[in-house]
Amino acid sequence: MDTKIIQPQDIEVAVALIQAGELVAFPTETVYGLGADATNEAAVKKVYQAKGRPSDNPLIVHVAQLKTVFEYVDNFPENAQEIVRKFWPGPLTIILPVKKDRLSPFVTGGLSTAAFRMPNNEITLRFINKVGVPLVGPSANTSGRPSPTTAQHVFHDLKGKIAGIIDGGAAEVGIESTVLDFTEKTPIILRPGAITHAQIEAVIGKVQVDKHLVEASETPKAPGMKYKHYAPDVEVQMIDATKQNWQAAIEWAHGKKLAVGVLASKTIVTKYQSEVVAVYTLTEHNQIEEAMHTLFSGLRKLDEHQPALDILFVETFAEQGLAIAYMNRLKKAAGQKFFCAQ
Ligand code: AMP
Ligand code: MG
Repeated sequence: MDTKIIQPQDIEVAVALIQAGELVAFPTETVYGLGADATNEAAVKKVYQAKGRPSDNPLIVHVAQLKTVFEYVDNFPENAQEIVRKFWPGPLTIILPVKKDRLSPFVTGGLSTAAFRMPNNEITLRFINKVGVPLVGPSANTSGRPSPTTAQHVFHDLKGKIAGIIDGGAAEVGIESTVLDFTEKTPIILRPGAITHAQIEAVIGKVQVDKHLVEASETPKAPGMKYKHYAPDVEVQMIDATKQNWQAAIEWAHGKKLAVGVLASKTIVTKYQSEVVAVYTLTEHNQIEEAMHTLFSGLRKLDEHQPALDILFVETFAEQGLAIAYMNRLKKAAGQKFFCAQ
């Protein structure tokens, strides 16, 4: 299959493809989504095939209007309505109980609940409105790989497997939405994202954080969380800057004759670039927003380095506020491995 790169002014081409049951990736403020008509089961099945995604991992239903959510849900609690009025369109996904048999089990992973989001991207809102039905939109990458933040990342992973990609430039936020579950008495954050715990509590009061985000051994509530995620091929190890062990890590790798890559803030990159094979700057001025924006593209860039790297050291940030989401993705990309000085 020929994968078309579609410019925003040619959106009608993308609309026709979706209406014909094909897959089209679309830009959002978080990462690129792999779009299919959420009401067309055959189209939704293709999403799992193209991504190589396990079929018990449910999909997020992307809407362009709040009223669409009401068509599918059984109950839209007041606090859930309040939070979406505040943060939609934006990087927040809500989970609600759905009406029976309205959504395919391939959308819900066979659960009685579904995830909904309204992305903050003008092109994609127009796209969904023109299609006239909600779209499923998991990240448009091969399952397990770093999420795509540009149309080129999508093309790299899915060329030949999907009909089109709408090129809307680089995703601003760079990591996936915060997932907030409203099916229990107290809402629970299942996945941290750019909308923080504190921002949510400021609007609707107390919310919990899924236990497995705190304790690695807990079985996760969100099915998708148990799979290998966000990982490049190269081995990733995290470097805790507060322990000042960059030097030790690089010396250890040199002792083992490993080809080293560094993904870190400008000061670290400047200090070590002459000692390693490849570097990529996460942030110029040590800003977490910028590090979040760059994390996945940096992982991809260094993973493609020729000759291949043996190890990639990535900078950690203290786990508070936005850095909770950054560290959640980085820990998975690194398989939880921190460099430990011997
Ligand atoms: P992705 O499609 O890669 O952005 O991932 C979607 C995330 O939302 C995954 O972690 C899913 O497991 C989670 N998710 C989607 N629907 C549900 C649901 N009904 N209940 C719990 N988690 C969900
Ligand atoms: Mg994903």
